[in-house]
Amino acid sequence: MVETKKSAAPKVPRGHVVVNTERCKGCGFCAQFCPTGVLAMSKGFNLKGYHPPIIADAAKCSGCDLCGMYCPDFAIYGVKNGRKPESGDA
Ligand code: SF4
Ligand code: SF4
Repeated sequence: MVETKKSAAPKVPRGHVVVNTERCKGCGFCAQFCPTGVLAMSKGFNLKGYHPPIIADAAKCSGCDLCGMYCPDFAIYGVKNGRKPESGDA
């Protein structure tokens, strides 16, 4: 029997995350609770003087929006790729 090699095509991320840096108050909840470690906290400051999150590993984002659910300032949200934005989306 001949074994066939599985395709080595690059994985397409299942979702993506959007950060509104200037709304952020730097609490870190989003980075702390992201289940796949997509986010890290920036060493830089936003205009309010807080450290916002940065996307450290975009390929790992599932678009689950857990970051958005934890954010007290509506400064971040995740979207599943292929999903049409709703009218209430930022
Ligand atoms: S949870 Fe919201 S306010 Fe807190 S660090 Fe993340 S984006 Fe900023
Ligand atoms: S949408 Fe989910 S996987 Fe993507 S950054 Fe937010 S918490 Fe992490």
